Amino acid sequence: MTNQTMKEALKQGVAELARSLARKDFSSVELTQAYLDRIGQHNTELNAYVTVTNEQALAQAAAADKARTAGTAATYAGIPFAHKDIFCTTGVRTACGSRMLDNFISPYNATVVEKMSNAGMVMLGKTNMDEFAMGSSNETSWYGPVRNPWNRTLVPGGSSGGSAAAVAAHLCPAATATDTGGSIRQPASFCGLTGIKPTYGRVSRWGMIAFASSLDQAGVLTRSAEDAAILMQMMSGFDPKDSTSVDLPVPDYLATLDQPLKGLRIGLPKQHFAAGLNPEVEKQIRAALSEFEKQGAILKEVSLDNSHLSVSAYYVIAPAEASANLSRYDGVRFGYRCDKPVDLEDLYKRSRAEGFGAEVKRRIMVGTYALSAGYYDAYYIKAQKVRRLIKDDFERAFKEVDVIMGPTSPHTAFPLGSKTKDPVTMYLEDIYTIAVNLAGLPGLSVPAGLINGLPIGLQIVGRDFSEAQLLNLAHRFQQATDWHTRTPGVDGSN
Ligand code: GLN
Repeated sequence: MTNQTMKEALKQGVAELARSLARKDFSSVELTQAYLDRIGQHNTELNAYVTVTNEQALAQAAAADKARTAGTAATYAGIPFAHKDIFCTTGVRTACGSRMLDNFISPYNATVVEKMSNAGMVMLGKTNMDEFAMGSSNETSWYGPVRNPWNRTLVPGGSSGGSAAAVAAHLCPAATATDTGGSIRQPASFCGLTGIKPTYGRVSRWGMIAFASSLDQAGVLTRSAEDAAILMQMMSGFDPKDSTSVDLPVPDYLATLDQPLKGLRIGLPKQHFAAGLNPEVEKQIRAALSEFEKQGAILKEVSLDNSHLSVSAYYVIAPAEASANLSRYDGVRFGYRCDKPVDLEDLYKRSRAEGFGAEVKRRIMVGTYALSAGYYDAYYIKAQKVRRLIKDDFERAFKEVDVIMGPTSPHTAFPLGSKTKDPVTMYLEDIYTIAVNLAGLPGLSVPAGLINGLPIGLQIVGRDFSEAQLLNLAHRFQQATDWHTRTPGVDGSN
C-alpha cells in the first residue's frame, strides 16, 4: 500500500471501509497494519489504548482477507476497531481502568465482543477509561490520564475517554463505549464524535464489567451516524444471558437513516438552556437547531421539572449499586491480592485499599452509607422516588414532542487537572446527560460546532427504543453540515 493510499484509508469510517475492502483497494491486513503503526507512533502521547493486540488483530485481519478471496466474507469483515477495556475479552487483559484488575485475563468474551467478532471485525486493542467507568475526564484511570487529540492539555471527557481519543485521533475508525450517566455522550461532545447510548436493555450487558447495573448501557463512538447505525445493528438484540436485555426485534437502522424530518416536533427543555450554559455553546446549539427547522421540524419549549434533582439522585443510586457490585473484589477469587496477608481480614482490607483508587473508594463509601440500615429510606428510597419523577417528566414531554434536543455539555473540554480536586464540580459534568440514564432512554450526541477550535455536541434524546429515529436525525444533520468531518489529527497531517 502506498503512503497516499494508507493516508486515505485511515480517514475512512466503517461504511466507507466496507466498500474499499469489497473493492480490494487494500487488504484488511494492510489496513490493520497501518492502524497498528499509527498507534505505535501516537499512543504514548495520548494514552488512548491500554492494550494493543497486534498479533491477534493481524490474525483476524488475515482471516477476513482469506474469507474475502473465497467470497464468503461478511459485509464488515476485516474492519478494525477498538473495545473499551470494560468489555471482557478472552485471553486478553480486561482491567477496567483499575489496579484491581490489572492482572485479570478474561476467560470469556462479553456478548458485545462476541457479536462484533462474529461479524468479522478486527479488534486493535482495549482503550483506556476511568476506573470502573467512574469519572468524566478519564483522570481516574490506574493507567494514567488520556489526552484530548484536539488539544493535548485538555481532557477527552470520560469515562470512555480512551475510546473517544482513539477515534478522534484516527487510531481506529470506531470504538465501543459505555454510558452510565454520560460516558459516551460527553466524550463524544469533547472529541467531535457521534456517540450513542441506546435504550436500557437494547444491548446485552453480559461480560461488561458492572458499575451501576440499572444504568449501564453499551454503545459506540464513531465519526458518523451511518457508522453508528452499522455498529448498533451488530451489537443490539436480546441475550438470554442478560436478564435485563429486552426481547424486541432490532430494526434495520440503515434503512431509515434518510427519512425526511417534516413535521417532527423537537422539545427544548428550558432547564438545559438556563444559567450555567456557556453562551457561545448556546448560540451554536441554536444554530444547529435551526438546521432541523430548515428541514421541516418544529421547535417547542418543554419543561423537565425535576432535572435539577438528577445529579443528586444519580449520586445516591449509582454509588449504592457500585458498592454492591464492587464487593466481589475481595482479593480471594480474582483480581489484585495484597502481599503477605496476616489473616483473612487483613487480606480483604489491604487488597481493597491497595487495589482501588480514590474515586472508587469514595463511591463505595457513599453507596454503603446510603444503603445502611437507618439511612436506606432517607437516601436510597428517596432517590428512587426522584428517579420515577424524572422518568415521568420525560413521559409528559414525549406527549407533546417526538424528541428532545439540547447541548450535551455546557462547555468544551476542560484542562487536565482542573476539576480533580473537587468531586462535586466533576459530578456536575453530566448535568444534561444523567437524567437520560435514570429514565433508561436512548441518547445521542452529534458534533454541532467548534468554539475556539474545540468541538461541542448536540444531544438528541428519544422515546424508549427510538434508536433508529435518533440515528436518522443525526444522519440528516450530518448530510447538511460538516462538523462531523472536522478532525484534529494528531500531527495535523490527516
Ligand atoms: N460521570 C459519571 C460518573 O462518574 C458517569 C460515568 C459513566 O457514564 N460511566 O459516574
